[in-house]
Amino acid sequence: MSTLPIAGAGLPGLARGEAARGERLARLSGQFLRRLGADLRGVPRYVVRYTILVLAFFGLLSVWESQGDGPIPSPCLLRTLDPCHVSAPQCILEGVGDQARWQALAAALAILDQVHPAVASWVRQRREAGALVFSDEYCRGRDRQASLARYDHFRRRLILQRPLFSETDGEIAAVLCHEYRHSRQNFAKLMKCVLSFVTTAEGDRSILENDALLYEHEARLAIFGR
Ligand SMILES: [Zn+2]
Repeated sequence: MSTLPIAGAGLPGLARGEAARGERLARLSGQFLRRLGADLRGVPRYVVRYTILVLAFFGLLSVWESQGDGPIPSPCLLRTLDPCHVSAPQCILEGVGDQARWQALAAALAILDQVHPAVASWVRQRREAGALVFSDEYCRGRDRQASLARYDHFRRRLILQRPLFSETDGEIAAVLCHEYRHSRQNFAKLMKCVLSFVTTAEGDRSILENDALLYEHEARLAIFGR
């Protein structure tokens, strides 16, 4: 009697294993495709929902911005004081005390009392409220205005950098007008400016700066007559 294995005797077992693996693969593929289909069906709903939310947000922002910045006083011509004098150049030095720097602003505030009384009283209010900061920073850069003074919209603080004291009294008064104009800006403008840094690398500072630069220019014309 022959003891050789009969060719094909194991094939039914192998075929059953292959069939089971095929079924499992088909089942998993089906599950995956059903899940993917469900996710893809949800995509338009999310897109529509978030598009509506974004449009509603920007719509509300525009309505808020359209409320404007409120009444802004116009400048009067400077009558008697000398705007070209540099009153306290020593205050540019590092470590000069706040009181000395505050007194160094007296001549600029006297100019503002004639040209822009509202700006003068705003600066004095900032001082009384502890929201006038004399900074020892010295950062002469491309942005001249920022190296002299800036307004912190969030903390409502006026920050004066020490290079400001190398300017003439009239120039200091004009810079204070610039910062005052920032303080009157609608908060929606600030939000738009912040969002511009999300959409572009450089952002769009002109949203805030245009108003302030124009106001500073008007103040400079009233102070220096040019
Ligand atoms: Zn500015």
